[in-house]
Order: sequence, then structure tokens, then C-alpha cells
Amino acid sequence: MTGTTIKNDHYYMQLAIQEALKAEAIGEVPIGAVLVHEGEVIASSFNLRETLETTASHAEMIVIDQGNQHFNSWRLEDCTLYVTLEPCPMCAGAIVQSRIKRVVFGALDPKAGCAGSLMNLLQDDRFNHQVEVTSGVEEEVCGALLQNFFKQLREKKKREKQARQSEKQAELENKMTDRQVIPFPVTKQDDHSSDQS
Ligand SMILES: [Zn+2]
Repeated sequence: MTGTTIKNDHYYMQLAIQEALKAEAIGEVPIGAVLVHEGEVIASSFNLRETLETTASHAEMIVIDQGNQHFNSWRLEDCTLYVTLEPCPMCAGAIVQSRIKRVVFGALDPKAGCAGSLMNLLQDDRFNHQVEVTSGVEEEVCGALLQNFFKQLREKKKREKQARQSEKQAELENKMTDRQVIPFPVTKQDDHSSDQS
């Protein structure tokens, strides 16, 4: 039984990873999610925050929205949400609100994770709903996706900065050359004439 569960989680997380790769392909932070009901994937999406310029366009929020449309209901009681990164406070809040039964995530997010890292909004018994949580499924793949993305982003920014600097340097050198060639002799002649007068 446990073996089956692990195999299933692995399978659905692979689908979430495929979604994350779609995000990466369009320059978004690679985070993907799928929503599963009785073994069937009813929603899948990825982070679209930059593309849509909307704060709420995290992968989890989009699949919750799609799930609501699928069931024509705000309740997603028998669903499991698979996501490549630990949910942030906004998504963890929406997961509790939507009564999702179980969340499976890949990599931990020490800077924003609210399923155990910074706090655990999914399992706080002061709320009227608690969520089953499984973490660390395909953790290395999910984490490497993000690490590579940010590494490439840093390298790209560095290259752009270097290009800007060498452009500025060239501009500056041009200006200095102009000054030396043109105005300098004119000033010198002026000085000379005033000396003689
Ligand atoms: Zn989020």
C-alpha cells in the first residue's frame, strides 16, 4: 500500500515538474502544480506571475481556480495538490480555504514556505481545516530546477551589466577624445592672442 502511494506521488510530481519546465521555457520561475481527484488529473498549470503581472498567479492558485471551475464548486475536499515548491502563505491560505485534502510538494522554500519551513498554515489546528502534507517528493529535481534558473538569471544579469559598463566606457573614451582633439587647440590660441594684446 505504502509502495503504491509513493509510486503515485512520484508519478504526479513528474507531471508537476513538466509544468514547471513550461514556466522556465517562457522565463518564469519554474514552479508547476497539478490537482488530482480520484487518480485523475483535473487541473495543471505553472507559475505565470511575470507573464500576467498578477500577484496571485502562482501555480497552486491557478490549479485551485481550474479545480473550482471543474467541479463548479469552491470546495475541493477530495483533491490532492502536487506542487514542485513548498506553498507560500497566499497559496497555503487558499489550500486551507478550498478544503483540499492533501498537499504533496517537492523542494522546501526556506524564504517563504508555509507548509513547515517558516510556519505551517496547512496543519494549524486553530483553523477549521487541516491538510495532510507529504514533502520532499522529487525534492532534488524540483530544487535543481529553481537553482539552475536563478543561477542562469544571475549570469545573464552579470553579462548585461558588463555589456552596459563597456558601452559606457567606450562612450566616455569617445567624449574624452573629442575634447582633446577639438576644444584644446582653440583655447590655447585664445590664450596666446590675449597675451600679445
Ligand atoms: Zn504561492
